[in-house]
Amino acid sequence: MQHPFQEFREFVAENQPLAPLIWFRLGGPAAYFAKPRTIEDLRAVLRRANDEGIGFRLLGGGTNVLVRDEGVDALVVHMESPFFSDVAIVDERISVGAAVPLTALISQAARAGLAGLEILTGIPGTVGGALRGNAGSRQGAIGPYVSRVAVLDSSFEVQERERDDLSFVDRESNLDEPVILSAEFELSREDPESVVRRMRRIWIVKKENQPYGHQSAGCIFKNPSADISAGALIDQAGMKGTRHGGAEISDRHANFIIAHPGAKSDDVLHLIDQIQQRVWQQFGYELELQLQIW
Ligand SMILES: Cc1cc2nc3c(=O)[nH]c(=O)nc-3n(C[C@H](O)[C@H](O)[C@H](O)COP(=O)(O)OP(=O)(O)OC[C@H]3O[C@@H](n4cnc5c(N)ncnc54)[C@H](O)[C@@H]3O)c2cc1C
Repeated sequence: MQHPFQEFREFVAENQPLAPLIWFRLGGPAAYFAKPRTIEDLRAVLRRANDEGIGFRLLGGGTNVLVRDEGVDALVVHMESPFFSDVAIVDERISVGAAVPLTALISQAARAGLAGLEILTGIPGTVGGALRGNAGSRQGAIGPYVSRVAVLDSSFEVQERERDDLSFVDRESNLDEPVILSAEFELSREDPESVVRRMRRIWIVKKENQPYGHQSAGCIFKNPSADISAGALIDQAGMKGTRHGGAEISDRHANFIIAHPGAKSDDVLHLIDQIQQRVWQQFGYELELQLQIW
């Protein structure tokens, strides 16, 4: 049978291991894997997938994804080329491609004396992933700083979505188009040194409270409400440190699962199931996943 992406062989591979691109470092390969170099590549490969009835998924920094051990029977699109990584600053506005690491956006804004996004210090991943999931912490989220987003719609046409048309609530956004291409943020002027000082303070607190340096994917569950945290429920259920195979509920932050050498995605899935059951039985809360399972 002919390869469905035959004519895109320069940037589409078959049976590509995904674990090296995922912060959990777990899981099987993608049936098809594309690294489009331009927007034309991106649209062409998505159209072909659509015509062939092949599903597709967008991969950003891989910091909030768990790939199953059997892999992904779909096309995984990794937008990491320079084409999707531009950064431009004009007055108080900063425009960035979706593949730009969030940390790069925050530090470029800080250096230019633009304040706001430093509240996101310590959150790994790309701008695209952060917009999709309204990344944030107690200090606030990315949503309020967004003035415009360019997306590919379901016909793979470029569309601009303006601030009035965007909604960001909890760890969700209404950016439900297949691809986020770029975004513009509106920030406020401030002395770069005080922005950098705030970044440092936030980073110190984050490092103390989250298990950096381990294979993980950030918070596994959404908080049930603004004043009830999933981590506190898991902690109160006495589950910190619980292990299954090579996966363990973090001692430092109960809403993190860390993967030790030799872990399988199945070990993580087993712990997720165990947590959901225990929190439901003990407290009556149905914990909803923040983690994307592929
Ligand atoms: C140590 C650690 C700490 C973390 N701390 C926090 C925290 O404090 N707050 C927080 O909110 N999160 C946190 N996270 C989770 C994670 O960093 C965020 O969710 C991040 O924004 C995900 O971005 P990503 O590029 O890695 O997305 P990925 O993990 O690659 O993908 C996540 C989702 O976004 C979609 N997506 C990615 N790029 C695009 C695109 N261009 N267009 C359309 N869809 C896209 C994917 O398809 C997927 O559904 C943490 C993770 C780790 C590992």
